Amino acid sequence: MIIDCHGHYTTAPPAHQAFRDAQLAWVSDRSGPVPQRPDIPDADIRASIEDNQLRVLRERGGDLMIFSARASSMGHHVPDPGIARDWARACNDLTARVAAMFPEHFAAVCQLPQTPGGGLDDAVEELRRCVEELGFVGCNLNPDPSGGWWTSPPLTDRYWFPVYEAMVALDVPAMVHVSTTTNPAFHDLGAHYLNADTTVFMQLLTGDLFATFGELRLVIPHGGGAVPYHWGRYQGLANRIGRPGRATELLRNVFFDTAVYHQPGIDLLTRVIPTENILFASEMLGAVRGADPVTGIDFDDTKRYLDAVPGLDLPQIYEHNARRVYPRLTRPGS
Ligand SMILES: [Zn+2]
Repeated sequence: MIIDCHGHYTTAPPAHQAFRDAQLAWVSDRSGPVPQRPDIPDADIRASIEDNQLRVLRERGGDLMIFSARASSMGHHVPDPGIARDWARACNDLTARVAAMFPEHFAAVCQLPQTPGGGLDDAVEELRRCVEELGFVGCNLNPDPSGGWWTSPPLTDRYWFPVYEAMVALDVPAMVHVSTTTNPAFHDLGAHYLNADTTVFMQLLTGDLFATFGELRLVIPHGGGAVPYHWGRYQGLANRIGRPGRATELLRNVFFDTAVYHQPGIDLLTRVIPTENILFASEMLGAVRGADPVTGIDFDDTKRYLDAVPGLDLPQIYEHNARRVYPRLTRPGS
């Protein structure tokens, strides 16, 4: 079985985005009523999946995708907690409908209603609702709700503990995933995402989060940003701060996905990071679409790259690691 741990509902019916647009307009001009989410027919959801993610999943030989709302649209930089709550619920309810419609092919992961510097009670409540009532298997946690200004404390700070306590109690992991950036210095997909992946690993290296939360599991997407490429730097920095071996210790709790879009990148990832810490992912249909004109391979067809690595334990990367990190995938009745 092949489990892709990182996919987004980037093809949601237009009415869903229209609701978001109305929300954002209301934030600027509150003279009208608070926008209400639209009724989206099952047929629209079915068509938006069958012609897109499900078609590509099947074409590439995949079975199950761990699926969440479009990450760049989470929009946590909008400071209104009510808007964040309504938007997260609308996004998660839509994701839940996809998973219910195609239970063999999609397992849901939730967006959390975060705001810059805001409390995390709403995030915990939404996480509990999604897991306990809707059968979700994980969450996306944004380490920078400000959208590229990094105004929140590092992920090792007590500020985040309520979310971690709920994650441990529910036995779900988080993928550490930022949303859009409002900082014009950063491109969302080419800079901000990879910056965040790299930044979070360094936060974890210098902090002591897993001494408090030994069971917590975090997935760093996009192949871990710059981390595998600079593994020597992290080992050396761990020595420098008096914590030799620290980078490797983090691998008890930290995992990397394979959303890396060329063969040399996958070769490096699988050579540097232990196989038990690598989860298959394509992030399709996502940031990079189309085929590399040199190889003819779709950039995000990461299975092709993994299949070409000699001697790799593919069942572990394709299935077993995902089941270990997302144990709710395998629960009876799920
Ligand atoms: Zn993503």
